[in-house]
Amino acid sequence: MTLEGKVALVTGASRGIGRAIALRLGASGAAVAVNYRSAAAEADAVVAQIAGAGGRAAAFQADVSRFAEAERLVGEVIAAFGRMDILVNNAGTTRDTLLASMSEDDWDIVVDTCLKGAFNCCRAAIRPMMRQRYGRIVNITSVAGLAGQAGQVNYAAAKAGLIGLTKSLAKEVGPRNITVNAVAPGYVPTDLTASLPADMVKNWIEFTPLRRAATPEDIAAAVAFLVSPDADFITGQVISVDGGLIMQ
Ligand code: NAP
Repeated sequence: MTLEGKVALVTGASRGIGRAIALRLGASGAAVAVNYRSAAAEADAVVAQIAGAGGRAAAFQADVSRFAEAERLVGEVIAAFGRMDILVNNAGTTRDTLLASMSEDDWDIVVDTCLKGAFNCCRAAIRPMMRQRYGRIVNITSVAGLAGQAGQVNYAAAKAGLIGLTKSLAKEVGPRNITVNAVAPGYVPTDLTASLPADMVKNWIEFTPLRRAATPEDIAAAVAFLVSPDADFITGQVISVDGGLIMQ
């Protein structure tokens, strides 16, 4: 129980990778704030699963792409649990298409969710973390942010931006004992990737040295490490959890 006494907010925790992160942090002893945008029943199920295993959790609705909603979210989490130690910026979305046909909305929705959403939540959480001289922030980026991906200029730009945010914020708040790191998953079968063409997925797996897709639990394990005492001296890093697909 390495996270006993800690409070974690996981954004976009109703489904997919965020759900696995919430369950893992809950199993490690943290009280977990399960954020969702619209999937209330799924978020309640995550809360019930954590509580059923003897943990503490509650669901919090907020669209993190909106500054005021992220501020309200963090305020509600602190009001409910008394503090906030861990922030996992996981909420994300895609609107894939080639740049030549990408609409302004395709760009805005993806950048507002993946990049501005993380800024919004960091902005709301950072002062309480600075006051308590403790914080662990993990941003979920993507191999697309490291290597680029045709059909994803919006998503890859947002995820690359998230890496810049991670490193810059790590430099700003390190003296207050706050670490800021990023995890870059490779392909993970979730709702987000369900509509990708099968041949594209097959190619990625063939190019992956470990020859399989990631599971949400693979990503959650890296997050759990980065917020644990074992990672107390690690900050500003990007850990790829991709079976070796992208090697920097
Ligand atoms: P997913 O299954 O589509 O789940 C997305 C989650 O984000 C849902 O809980 C959703 O909430 C939430 N969400 C979306 N927009 C939101 C907003 N504006 N405010 C609050 N919550 C919002 O996606 P996933 O595959 O688990 O992806 C999770 C993260 O991993 C994303 O940042 C994604 O970019 C990243 N990632 C995924 C892969 C992959 O292969 N799957 C690879 C690399 C990186 P609702 O359920 O309420 O809609």
